[in-house]
Amino acid sequence: MQIGIPRERLTGETRVAATPETVKKYVAAKHTVLVESGAGARAHFPDDAYVQAGAQIVDAAQALGAELIMKVKAPDASELPQMKSGAVLVGMLDPFDQEGLARLAAAGLTAFALEAAPRITRAQSLDVLSSQANLAGYKAVLLAANQYGRLFPMMMTAAGTLKAARAVVLGAGVAGLQAIATAKRLGAVVEASDVRPAAKEQIESLGAKFIDVPFETDEEREIAQGVGGYARPMPAAWMARQAALVAERCKQADIVISTALIPGRPAPQLISAETVQAMKPGSVIVDLAVERGGNCPLSEKDQIVEKHGVALIGYSNLPALVPHDASALYARNILDFMKLISNAEGELAIQQEDEIVTACLVCKDGTVLRSA
Ligand code: NAD
Repeated sequence: MQIGIPRERLTGETRVAATPETVKKYVAAKHTVLVESGAGARAHFPDDAYVQAGAQIVDAAQALGAELIMKVKAPDASELPQMKSGAVLVGMLDPFDQEGLARLAAAGLTAFALEAAPRITRAQSLDVLSSQANLAGYKAVLLAANQYGRLFPMMMTAAGTLKAARAVVLGAGVAGLQAIATAKRLGAVVEASDVRPAAKEQIESLGAKFIDVPFETDEEREIAQGVGGYARPMPAAWMARQAALVAERCKQADIVISTALIPGRPAPQLISAETVQAMKPGSVIVDLAVERGGNCPLSEKDQIVEKHGVALIGYSNLPALVPHDASALYARNILDFMKLISNAEGELAIQQEDEIVTACLVCKDGTVLRSA
């Protein structure tokens, strides 16, 4: 099969959907790989490396006109018309974006949105949300450390002792747990909150303190279990108690990394404007949920803003700030997914009955297969 690897066109998108390492494997599996010139350049994978791996370097039209196209993000209005009706598209296509999916369906594409893969053990190696969120959690802490005008670790010097920074992490999923681990490694004192009770043990195993918002009703306890590993919106009473506790913890904090999300919904607001106002001057908030409206109403997408003496970092695409590693992991996720939709002869062979395939298949034969 002909596989196309176009250059990502979205502003700030530096990743690429295949690396020389994965291209080599596709070529060994009898695929023809067409890489758009410069597709990997911003992730430091030069054209030469793809050629050595067995790819052909082509222009955008040829890469987008392939039988199967691998992308990082959904195609834009300039790319979509260049894709052939009946072609297969694999990428992070945003399965909750009904309008975007309708455009893919109208273009006649068979589209797989990898973010929709179920959180089951067998899907771990192709889990794009995890591979990218992990890097985002790491990078968030480094951005915070860079912005913060003080150090993270406690330091005893001849000129006196510096206190360790206090970090609060809100949401302890993949990104949050990596943020906890990274902040700990840098020497911060860390505490974290999550709605799912299972997160408590994970937070504590990383040496952080769990910010406990006790459940007061069976309903609260039941909703907090989430579904499929994901959180669900909590009742207003629990959210109010959490907000009060978070406000108290944030006032003591130097760094806040917020990662709380609920799939397909606006991000829960956890840090109010009043809380920001009460925080120490010079403290830093990194809001990883900014793309979904933010965990803090004061954060602004793709900006660093200062409000009430607090810096709010709202970069929406943190994996793109570590493009080499982010691409390497993402490309391996796709390589693994390809095993479910192609055979050893390098032909398309979609395993229709496989639950990972059915979950990811969002468009086929002109129809959107997923409702919001
Ligand atoms: P996510 O990005 O959807 O959300 C981030 C975190 O925010 C979650 O931990 C969520 O519980 C939390 N959150 C939501 N509302 C909150 C609130 N009001 N206050 C505090 N926290 C709140 O989550 P994710 O990182 O994608 O991980 C979701 C789950 O999937 C986790 O349990 C993770 O361990 C699990 N997971 C399983 C697999 C697998 O088994 N294959 C792979 C990856 C992740």
